Amino acid sequence: MSEEYNYDLVVVGGGPAGSSSAFSAAKAGIKVAIIEKEESIAETVRTSGVTWIQNIKEFGIPEDCYNPIKNFSFCSPNNEVSISDSIPRAAVLDVRKTYRWLAKQAEEQGADIFTKTTITDVIKDTDGNIIGVSGTNENGNVIFHSKVVIDASGFPSTVAKAMGYVTQWERFGAGAEYEVKVEKVEEDRWWLMVGQQYSPAGYAWIFPLGNNIVRIGVGVGKPDSAVDPTQRLKEIMEKKMGPIKDLGEITPIEFHYGLIPNDGLSRKTVFNNLILVGDTAGQANPLVLEGIRYAIKFGRVAGDTAANAVKSGKTSEKELQPYEDNWKKEIESKINSAGKVQDRWIGLTDEEWDKELDIISELKSEEFLDFIKADFGLSNMLKLATHHPKLAVRQLFNLVKGK
Ligand SMILES: Cc1cc2nc3c(=O)[nH]c(=O)nc-3n(C[C@H](O)[C@H](O)[C@H](O)COP(=O)(O)OP(=O)(O)OC[C@H]3O[C@@H](n4cnc5c(N)ncnc54)[C@H](O)[C@@H]3O)c2cc1C
Repeated sequence: MSEEYNYDLVVVGGGPAGSSSAFSAAKAGIKVAIIEKEESIAETVRTSGVTWIQNIKEFGIPEDCYNPIKNFSFCSPNNEVSISDSIPRAAVLDVRKTYRWLAKQAEEQGADIFTKTTITDVIKDTDGNIIGVSGTNENGNVIFHSKVVIDASGFPSTVAKAMGYVTQWERFGAGAEYEVKVEKVEEDRWWLMVGQQYSPAGYAWIFPLGNNIVRIGVGVGKPDSAVDPTQRLKEIMEKKMGPIKDLGEITPIEFHYGLIPNDGLSRKTVFNNLILVGDTAGQANPLVLEGIRYAIKFGRVAGDTAANAVKSGKTSEKELQPYEDNWKKEIESKINSAGKVQDRWIGLTDEEWDKELDIISELKSEEFLDFIKADFGLSNMLKLATHHPKLAVRQLFNLVKGK
């Protein structure tokens, strides 16, 4: 005997995309379940948690969930650049606290959360459309019947795969990180470290969380490089390379590991009765492989769209299409432009990275952040092109504009 449940919307995955989808759908008045395989929400941290204060405020995330950053330092083997802002525009999230806050928001709107429940398969009608999901919990088998399903399972894309709509991501980032206690740290400065010694296709980082806690990590692009990020992280920490040496004594607290898609926006994200969101949809900025703000933002749009469809009694692809139109309009061209910069960055030698940092040092803090955020709107790019007389800087922007 299986346990059976009936919902208007079942959201698979209790990460930022799943909780945010459930929040807006439950707020719109439909019956929602979030299904999470782990013991509790955000039990395992798979992310470094850098995001932007403007988005944090837009989402209403409480101030005790993040550490503000206003100094941005980059180092390559033989160069270093620091850009400082008068006010903090970036932040490092307390990931567990933030993700649990997002889930609580959904619960307060009436969503039910099922933890320790792993979805393994889908239920289809005679036309092959999804009408539920199935899996296991502590008691055995469990079935969820649902008018709409949102796949927010992240990198594994469990539901979309079980439907046969997608295959494994081919290009992705693999990241390893230690959350550590350190002796000394500038709490409002992050470090990005580039060049072969840190990562042959990617970068290493130091992200401070406050109270002398920092996250030190290494990200490696796959299949571009065969380097194991965990091994490389251990090496750079043991050798105390670059700015790591300034942290003094380092005491590990927790290890994090994760994968993030980097195949661009290649997936279709709406099908009859089904929406893909967050990492499942590939919604990540490829420049620094950050996707939390997109997961929250488009999660909310997905939840709204699902609720409208359920209330109208029609949940086909056509009714769910406004969700895909929304996110595509907002990020498709930016992500495509960012992909071009990433292609350039992946191919840089150490000497070329040293020169690239000279170009970056020409940028004002706002320009630098627009760049790193892949905020390549036309007006931003025109401003940059006119303000920068140096040919090298203009060449970088021309790349973004596709010239
Ligand atoms: C090393 C690394 C560093 C990163 N750093 C940053 C950063 O600094 N800033 C940033 O914005 N982004 C960063 N990202 C990306 C960011 O973590 C993701 O874009 C974001 O987490 C996507 O959210 P999501 O809800 O789509 O997926 P996830 O956060 O992956 O959530 C998916 C949830 O679904 C659950 N789940 C999976 N399968 C099942 C199943 N079968 N049944 C039930 N539950 C299931 C999982 O347990 C998980 O809780 C990083 C990623 C990596 C790998």
